[in-house]
Amino acid sequence: MSAYCFPVYNAYCAECAEGDGPHDYADDAAEWAANHNAENHNEDDRTDADYDHYKESLRDQQ
Ligand SMILES: [Zn+2]
Repeated sequence: MSAYCFPVYNAYCAECAEGDGPHDYADDAAEWAANHNAENHNEDDRTDADYDHYKESLRDQQ
């Protein structure tokens, strides 16, 4: 079997030094982050624009 690569997605909170992953799908990592923020940072009023920006920042880490 030959080598191959595939993307994975990690969620991480630098403030808490806590993360989750790797996940196969960006949405799974984003869901962890959203739940983490709601539980730890009172950011449950995030906007769709924030979510899109977050997904883009995840892609930039690849
Ligand atoms: Zn945190």
